[in-house]
Amino acid sequence: MKKLILFLSVVFFSEKSFAQASAFLVTDPAAEQVMLGNYDPTLYTASVVINHPDSISQGIMQRINPDSLKSNIIKLASFHNRNTGSDTLSATKGFGAARNWVYSKFQEYSTANGNRLIPAFFQFDQAICLVNRHKNIIAVLPGIDTTDKRIILIEGHMDSRCEVLCDTSCLAQGVEDNATGTALVMELARVMSKYSYNHTIVFMITTSEEQGLYGAEAFADYCTLKGIQIKAVQNNDVIGGIVCGTTSSAPSCPGLNAIDSTQVRLFSFGGFNSKHKQYARFSKLEYKEELLPFVSVPMTVSIMSAEDRTGRGGDHIPFRQHAYTAIRYTSANEHGDANVAAVGYSDRQHSSRDTLGIDTNGDFVVDSFFVNFNYLARNAVINGNAAGMAAIGPKEPDFTVVAIGTSMVEVTITQQTGYAFYRFADRTTTNDWDSVYLMTGTVDTFMVGTAVNHYVSVASIDTNGIESLFSKEILIAVPNGISELKKEEGISLMQNKPNPFDESTIISVYVDKGKKYKEAFISITDIKGKEIKRMPVDLKPGMNEVIYEHGYGASGIFTYTLMLDGKAVESRKMIFAN
Ligand SMILES: [Zn+2]
Repeated sequence: MKKLILFLSVVFFSEKSFAQASAFLVTDPAAEQVMLGNYDPTLYTASVVINHPDSISQGIMQRINPDSLKSNIIKLASFHNRNTGSDTLSATKGFGAARNWVYSKFQEYSTANGNRLIPAFFQFDQAICLVNRHKNIIAVLPGIDTTDKRIILIEGHMDSRCEVLCDTSCLAQGVEDNATGTALVMELARVMSKYSYNHTIVFMITTSEEQGLYGAEAFADYCTLKGIQIKAVQNNDVIGGIVCGTTSSAPSCPGLNAIDSTQVRLFSFGGFNSKHKQYARFSKLEYKEELLPFVSVPMTVSIMSAEDRTGRGGDHIPFRQHAYTAIRYTSANEHGDANVAAVGYSDRQHSSRDTLGIDTNGDFVVDSFFVNFNYLARNAVINGNAAGMAAIGPKEPDFTVVAIGTSMVEVTITQQTGYAFYRFADRTTTNDWDSVYLMTGTVDTFMVGTAVNHYVSVASIDTNGIESLFSKEILIAVPNGISELKKEEGISLMQNKPNPFDESTIISVYVDKGKKYKEAFISITDIKGKEIKRMPVDLKPGMNEVIYEHGYGASGIFTYTLMLDGKAVESRKMIFAN
């Protein structure tokens, strides 16, 4: 009988959207006031203030502990089932026991750091899996400077699931998805609480992700309602596994049992000039500059084209939908595509198989783990460093840029002047910056190579040598003597970015002046000239971007052609290298 009820509830949940979450409550009023920026920072000042960027970066790198991550994951697995609808009364089993344990750990970290970390529950009312009241767990680390009230949010969901969405009795250890993200956020709370930051940092463990991102959605709603300003959100979901399953959502899982322990993927919304991808680039730059020279295992930080894996989502999305900057950290390889309804699905994700690992010697203790704790630790370090630098950095400036002569630009800082230095970033054909330069003064000139179109942005640098986030990008055409523009049409099909790429790529059409077309689309053809996809484009003056999801496996050279009212205007080639 119970199974039948659960089955019906799945049908209900998948076909109807829930009522809005309501009755938001942060159980400790002090946590709310800090998030709002209404507090006296001296109440939370550390006895020894450690806030130099090198101390923070090095401290995070040295103190993030794979054993601490491991013991937290083993504990999280012990709750048997952390489904959103699971038990909240038991002291040892279910989501309620798990969240009380996380709260107690946050309290323990606070005690170890002069009581500066404020743990609280964020409670909301919403009918999900037959439970009407839900709680995220937050830990708020107050910033030492309230002039800029923006907070940094590091989150991961703790709820788990089996094949049936609201099954509260199955074994749902949810280890890879997402005890890894939960343990990472907890470890960062432990380690980062030792240091002081200008901005407040909030560590959040969410509920109800699996049913539709409801814990994150409720908190994003609450922040908007209250006027809480967020500088950036770093979501961590499926962040500790290194092994591919048979089925893994595109992009980037090469095949069963393939291993990748040196790459992490940053997913975010929008074209490559979105503020989200700009934050992903900042996170990668901070890793490269602050940590890479010192780490024993260098990591590749991949800035992905899409907001998430194909057809998938996560807790960064509600924040982006509320206009906050948000990115998702995910392992390079994951075990399964979560399509548990598919015949013969045998991977671990979203099944009772997402467990700690295997007992190889028969003593009933797992000794071979599915999660790689060193890899998880490396991802925690990249996260903590990015959040830490964003939390101590100065304000981002505004600027103007003009082309002067061939392949050269002049950059002028127009706002937030008075810092020690500024930086200038230039991006042409890929999702990452080609170069990041140091500016001398508030006006400077740079040689930018032979590409015509450049996306450029700036950051300020304070006296500690720490840069702000980078400003919004400006697109500038720099004459190089070889024009990419088809002047007779006033329209140009740009090279896709990135190319070769990670199964999704962005194709852009630059339009000089507004001109109406009855039909405009991009046609993608394979090497034999067979059309494999048509994508309509709504052409407006400026850069028009469409994302193309190619999917995994079909490697080779493809052609894309801009078609306007039945006429092929321009074609380019793109390469799928996987
Ligand atoms: Zn997840």
